[in-house]
Amino acid sequence: MFDAVIAGGGPAGMSAALTLGRTHRSVMLLDAGAGRNAPAEGVHNLLTRDGTPPARLRELGHAELASYPTVQVRTGTVTGVRAGDGGFDLDLADGGAVTARRLLLATGLADDLPAPPGVEALWGRSAFHCPYCHGYECTGRTVAVIGATAARARLALQLSRFAAGVALCADGEPLDAALRARLEANGVSVRREAVTRLVGADGRLDRIEFAGGPSLPRDAVFVVNVPRQASDLAERLGCAAFADGCVEVDEFGRTSVPGVYAAGDMARRASVPMPLSAVVAAAASGTVAAAVLDQDLVSADFDLPGPLAKARG
Ligand SMILES: Cc1cc2nc3c(=O)[nH]c(=O)nc-3n(C[C@H](O)[C@H](O)[C@H](O)COP(=O)(O)OP(=O)(O)OC[C@H]3O[C@@H](n4cnc5c(N)ncnc54)[C@H](O)[C@@H]3O)c2cc1C
Repeated sequence: MFDAVIAGGGPAGMSAALTLGRTHRSVMLLDAGAGRNAPAEGVHNLLTRDGTPPARLRELGHAELASYPTVQVRTGTVTGVRAGDGGFDLDLADGGAVTARRLLLATGLADDLPAPPGVEALWGRSAFHCPYCHGYECTGRTVAVIGATAARARLALQLSRFAAGVALCADGEPLDAALRARLEANGVSVRREAVTRLVGADGRLDRIEFAGGPSLPRDAVFVVNVPRQASDLAERLGCAAFADGCVEVDEFGRTSVPGVYAAGDMARRASVPMPLSAVVAAAASGTVAAAVLDQDLVSADFDLPGPLAKARG
């Protein structure tokens, strides 16, 4: 039986493994493969590693974990999980099984991309969702934001500070007159027609096509993504979750199920309205959850009271 098993080997899971390896905990890190940002050319907004390709970041993480003898990294998809006697039993897609005293979930989110057609081939390369991940790369370039809500208008105005030209594509939806006036007063053009297609090649957007009127040449487009849990492991365990699907954790990464921790994009606290989707934030939450998990084991091993208030009262 391992001290801990970590499901998901992105920034959150790898950081958790590092923390646990550094206290000589026996750890199995199970990872299905690519993470959420795999299509992107580089990870941005990450101090000292800004622009590093996502796959390279994982290589660097695995190389560091290799120097901790109690940490094992295994490629595999966790397909089943059960709370058992004194721990957790996990099933793997390849028929393997792992048992551990504690479980840390870091399986992340996956993105559904609604219309327009063509977005899949451009996602993470010239079709974006986050101004902090990709906004800087739009400096001096032509950009469009699809959507007609106040939040989409806000993003268009934000980008207009440094893009060469910004258009808001309302995609056939009604746009509030005051918002439209605010956009146009700040140099953001508005297209009202429904967007029918994004056209590009090799991940590069060329133009946006509409139900009527001329197409719009653009270098990049910000689209609405719909995140969902990448795995159903938390749900199978009965972990409390928010309406948006995010697993609820406390400040220390503890879920509602004793012995189960969650970190990274998949989890958030009640005080945070949405997951803090950033590699550095995911890594930080993995570190915190792993340290609290380790303290939980110290309490169990030496019959000590926990140093933290009990999870959820
Ligand atoms: C297109 C795009 C670009 C982005 N660019 C940036 C950026 O430039 N900078 C930045 O800071 N953030 C960026 N982000 C956000 C960033 O990707 C996430 O915040 C970060 O990856 C979250 O880390 P994580 O460890 O929680 O999840 P992930 O990195 O998604 O890792 C989760 C891991 O769990 C594994 N997994 C899932 N299910 C199972 C299972 N059942 N069994 C075993 N393993 C499983 C997956 O294979 C994956 O490896 C971007 C996001 C997107 C969508």
